[in-house]
Amino acid sequence: MPPVSDLVQHAIDRRTERRGDRAYLLELHGAEDVKFLVIGGARAAIVSSEDRRRAAVRWFSAAELAALNISTANALFLGVEAKSRAGRFAVALGDSEADAHAEGLAPLVDLRSLVMQGVIGQESFGQLAEAKMLSEWHASAKYCGRCGAETKIKDGGWKIICTACTAEQFPRVDPVVIMLVTHGENCALAHEPRFPEKMYSTLAGFVEPGEDVRTAVRRETREEIGIQIGKVEFFGSQPWPFPNSLMIGCVAEALDDTITIDQNEISHARWFGRSEVRDMLSQKHAHGLFVPGGHAIAHALIRQWAEAK
Ligand SMILES: [Zn+2]
Repeated sequence: MPPVSDLVQHAIDRRTERRGDRAYLLELHGAEDVKFLVIGGARAAIVSSEDRRRAAVRWFSAAELAALNISTANALFLGVEAKSRAGRFAVALGDSEADAHAEGLAPLVDLRSLVMQGVIGQESFGQLAEAKMLSEWHASAKYCGRCGAETKIKDGGWKIICTACTAEQFPRVDPVVIMLVTHGENCALAHEPRFPEKMYSTLAGFVEPGEDVRTAVRRETREEIGIQIGKVEFFGSQPWPFPNSLMIGCVAEALDDTITIDQNEISHARWFGRSEVRDMLSQKHAHGLFVPGGHAIAHALIRQWAEAK
């Protein structure tokens, strides 16, 4: 088990302006102080505290990965550690490859459950999200969308270029609006069929081509619970690498309070007062209702509202 002191994670400077400089990347990659994180499909190699309540990226040296027989030849360039300026890369394995190395990489933990349990620090989560989103993009861009020829990966993983027509592709991020709908002293929370039983959360939906964020918030709220929205305020955002979203958190003021749900997306929705939501946040609700946990932006949106008064 790696030492708990590794739980302190340092920020990474992405050095976006140097990604195209192959000699620079090779120099960082070959240096003594280079470190690699490892993801295997949806799982990440981590370090965790003894009580398993805190987790962070596990950084491997080149020698450690060589001993595990894991190649770093196609490692993705994450950047340099902000203080030491040492290179930081990601090795992305497929599910079966990760299974084959499970013992050496242990603990190898599902990234989504790390977030939902609220045990992974923000810095670590951002770095793992970056690696996962890049590798999933590579898996879906092996062939050129224009001419169908094979593509190759460039710039440390940040560009894909067609070997025939030279069309370039860059990593995509899909914007999703996630909104807490409020009306006076209440907020609307919904239960979706895919949720665990008794969990209620904020509404969310993809921003469509040609839409701005506020328009998307208003459209999704109208579609999902039949409520008209007036004022929309930006709250904060969160990368959500399942598979490649950016969650844009907003607080949306309802103009009326008659909920009519879209049964294709939502099984139940209603208004909740602040004290009931506080009980859900602290797992003390009389009927066992609860909200998403940990670092999910839905949790932060709900908490800031419930604790505002
Ligand atoms: Zn092409």
